[in-house]
Amino acid sequence: MPGFTTQIIHSDRQQPIEHGSLHKPIHANVAFGFDDVQGLVDVFQGKQKGFAYSRQVNPTVTALESKITKMENGVDTVCFATGMAAIGSTLFALLRKDDHVVSSSFLFGNTNSLFNTFASIGVDMSFVDATAVSNVENALRDTTRLVFVETIANPRTQVSDLERIGKLCADRSLIYVVDNTMTSPFLFQPIDSSASLVVNSLTKYISGHGNALGGAVTETGNFDWSQFPNIHDDYKKDSSEKWGLTQIRKKGLRDFGATLSPEAAFHIALGAETLALRMERQCATAQSLANFLHQHSCVERVYYPGLENHPEHERADKLFQRPGALLSFELVDGIDPFQFLNRLKLVINSTNLGDNRTLAIPVAHTIYYEMGPEMRATMGIADSLIRVSVGIEDCEDLIEDFDVALQS
Ligand SMILES: *Cc1c(COP(=O)(O)O)cnc(C)c1O
Repeated sequence: MPGFTTQIIHSDRQQPIEHGSLHKPIHANVAFGFDDVQGLVDVFQGKQKGFAYSRQVNPTVTALESKITKMENGVDTVCFATGMAAIGSTLFALLRKDDHVVSSSFLFGNTNSLFNTFASIGVDMSFVDATAVSNVENALRDTTRLVFVETIANPRTQVSDLERIGKLCADRSLIYVVDNTMTSPFLFQPIDSSASLVVNSLTKYISGHGNALGGAVTETGNFDWSQFPNIHDDYKKDSSEKWGLTQIRKKGLRDFGATLSPEAAFHIALGAETLALRMERQCATAQSLANFLHQHSCVERVYYPGLENHPEHERADKLFQRPGALLSFELVDGIDPFQFLNRLKLVINSTNLGDNRTLAIPVAHTIYYEMGPEMRATMGIADSLIRVSVGIEDCEDLIEDFDVALQS
């Protein structure tokens, strides 16, 4: 099989592209016309693959979906306008009232907020420390339908017990959703840890340049949907491998309408071509920066799975090609994190991660502000915690920027 980047670069050409274009063009149109009305009817009735209305399918988006399916080694993918839309639409499409979900408590802040909304409309939610499978197992109930984890948690970099949770879910016929945003399919393919569905925020590493929002859900083929009680009869047509994703496309994407635009899909597909190149460099720099900060007297603690003192260092080493490109750290008492951040010249004070530029943010005051001090404490987020998303700048320049800012 061709390598990771070879596949990404050449995936579009497996279907003929208009005029031999080397990039899949942007199909900036809403609806598609048919010479024979029967063609339109067949597409509507699902008897024929094709394009009718771009809220559900668009050729530029479909080309990106195939690319992501290949990257995740999966069966099929549905794209969404954002990563949050992918997560929200997936759970909305698959769950019913009184179903129970076990989620990692170390979650991207907006995912945590979304799951609390689901709880308020009748989905039972349990949040557990997913770095140990026993916590997930102890939370299971007869009504549990789905388990949700992130690979490396943002911002504290806890690594979920991915393989053992996958085995548990497989034994109990539970849908296992893995948010692979922080690792990206270049560092880790959740299909190998028995994931049923893989979520990616395309906004982050896959697109990479910080110029487009997008999300995706990939079906791995691991889950037997014929065992799942919530599939509508209408969606039990194809092989049962695809029932779940069909329902996500219909009930999630079509009915909710958080559709990825063809323009954004084009940007993301272009960015994805260099995912492996960018990630190699970003991860190598993150490791050097983590080592530098770890030995610095002004730094109290560094959280990065590539450091030997990280609680899940061995797990990250075993599962991931590299330990990621995001780290966080706390300065020693007496150094004001805001003053420190303002002294950085190259590093930009900004949210987002996975950009080519290195971005830093004081976490408790911004992305985790809304959840309040008690919740932050349970997630291990200190007031002084600074998150750094490492970019592709030259490593020496970045370390010098940190060095100078720490000296003064
Ligand atoms: C950013 C992020 C999301 C949400 O993605 P958006 O594209 O910003 O909606 C979900 N999960 C993780 C782990 C993220 O970092």
